[in-house]
Amino acid sequence: MTKYDVLKKYFGYDSFREAQETLVDGILSGKDAIGIMPTGAGKSLCYQIPALLMPGITLVISPLISLMKDQVSTLNQAGIHAAYLNSSLTAGQYRTAMKNMVNGQYKIVYVAPERLLTESFIEAVRSMDISMISVDEAHCISQWGQDFRPSYLKIPDFVSLLQKRPILTAFTATATREVKEDILALLGLENPVQITTGFDRKNLSFSVRQPGNKWRSALDVIEAHHGECGIIYCLTRKTVEEVCEQLIKSGYSATRYHAGLDDAERRNNQDDFLYDRKQIMVATNAFGMGIDKSNVRYVIHYNMPKNIESYYQEAGRAGRDGLPSDCVLLYSGQDVVTNQFFIDRMEPPEGVDEETAATIREREQERLKRMTYYCFTSDCLREYILRYFGEYGSGYCGNCSNCLTNFEEKDVTEIARNLIGCVKECRWAYGIVTIADAVHGSKNTKILRARLNENPYYGSCTEISIHLLRQVMNHLVMHGYLAVSDDEYHVVRLTDTSDEILSGGSVLMKTAKEQPKTAVPKNTKKSPSVTAEQDIDHGLFEKLRALRLEIARKEKVPPYIVFSDKTLVHMCILKPKTRSEMLRVSGVGEMKYEKYGEQFLDVVKNRSD
Ligand code: ADP
Ligand code: MG
Repeated sequence: MTKYDVLKKYFGYDSFREAQETLVDGILSGKDAIGIMPTGAGKSLCYQIPALLMPGITLVISPLISLMKDQVSTLNQAGIHAAYLNSSLTAGQYRTAMKNMVNGQYKIVYVAPERLLTESFIEAVRSMDISMISVDEAHCISQWGQDFRPSYLKIPDFVSLLQKRPILTAFTATATREVKEDILALLGLENPVQITTGFDRKNLSFSVRQPGNKWRSALDVIEAHHGECGIIYCLTRKTVEEVCEQLIKSGYSATRYHAGLDDAERRNNQDDFLYDRKQIMVATNAFGMGIDKSNVRYVIHYNMPKNIESYYQEAGRAGRDGLPSDCVLLYSGQDVVTNQFFIDRMEPPEGVDEETAATIREREQERLKRMTYYCFTSDCLREYILRYFGEYGSGYCGNCSNCLTNFEEKDVTEIARNLIGCVKECRWAYGIVTIADAVHGSKNTKILRARLNENPYYGSCTEISIHLLRQVMNHLVMHGYLAVSDDEYHVVRLTDTSDEILSGGSVLMKTAKEQPKTAVPKNTKKSPSVTAEQDIDHGLFEKLRALRLEIARKEKVPPYIVFSDKTLVHMCILKPKTRSEMLRVSGVGEMKYEKYGEQFLDVVKNRSD
């Protein structure tokens, strides 16, 4: 079999994506590989296809139980023998799986990093022919990353115990430069094929709102996606409870997920969402890693998350099938306070010394700052995120709330001079909020106690909205005209370039034109639903969906593991009437055809008779 045969037969796809093919070819020629590709880019196939073509077995190291379970169900559905080894198995199940593995029954085995160095596992693999070890979510090996897992550091020890060094491959979606270097060095990849495709997810449209009423704002998004699946992320369990309860009371099909629920309920709620029994998942960040549900049409952040990595990963759970989806962040100042609280009380990862722990905390602090700027920037949001990961976009994506609300280039020189002047004349240093309040002429106790009302710039901008003042403050910090201290006080100080502004330089800032208060941003309102977007037979789509649900329930797998929405949409377009026509549908491979092909053909035929 060739790689193309495997792709078609098991996965039902006609062609590789460019990056996939390069990685697959590299691996098949015996090289190590590293793939840094955004969520939904199709990293799994990059190692699964070589795994099926190589003589021995492939071990996939993966950090989460839910992730392994999902991947293994997908493979089993496609007719591939695979299994996982982790703590969710009973002792008996574990032994059986190990025995099957040793007997060569599986081509691909997913294993938790904690299992690698156990005696029984080492004993078992000693006699096996291991062709490749693939490390999924490889950023977990780096302390620079946000999901540092000390157990990932054991991978090289494990590899060194093997008689023959297998091919090593690593995959992740979120790697800044430092993280990538860590992956290469710590895993000991040797002269690997390296692919970094863009982080950009063009089908996602980003927006930030600072609503007076978050609940109303969330409802606007949900209503614009009537009948579709979405996730609402909250920072705390308490908010999850409140939002979920309110949704259910208002008649929505919602469920919840956070670390405070017992295992059984969590599993149950997660399945309700995955199996399309509930449409809205309200959750903390405990939910979602490795969740492959392809038809999530929107992700609302009810609170600002702690950093851009988390944000992009969570928001990225929308639109994995490549169809247009919305990512909306609802910001309020309190979110910064809550995140700060979490950082202050952060427990360092296990086995980490004090100095490292302090460094980790500092980095978290810096990340929070960059996340907060995201909520205030008037630049293209997509550009902001891409730049964070070291890429450059065009500066205008035309599909984020900043690009869509019509930029307005404002001359804010006067305001900037007053703000910088105020900082300069202060006897002590203060934070962004206090400085903005002072030039706004606030009479709050903090201002009066600090005698900021005696500052020559006090009240110099009474007619400017406090919001704009803070935006300009953030703009000045972002562009280096002012700096915020890295300690816990976050006080504003002058920089080398502050004087440029005071002595004649000008400051232009792009801002969104004021929108009427009740308007839903265009992108959300118009966001096409899966079926409306293309000119397809709606009734047929619903019938296919119903059949899919019936099969999924019978087989106890999530519907998207039977066929993705995209595959159903493709069926509606091609309207296949024969086996060979059905096999042309993207996502229908031979194995799946054998299982379900006829049933879906019947639905299509009846419909068009
Ligand atoms: P990642 O791990 O990079 O986030 P996945 O491996 O989970 O992404 O793949 C995302 C989706 O893209 C899956 O539904 C997968 O079946 C689909 N996919 C992968 N490769 C292809 C391809 N060559 N053609 C069409 N769909 C693909
Ligand atoms: Mg993946």
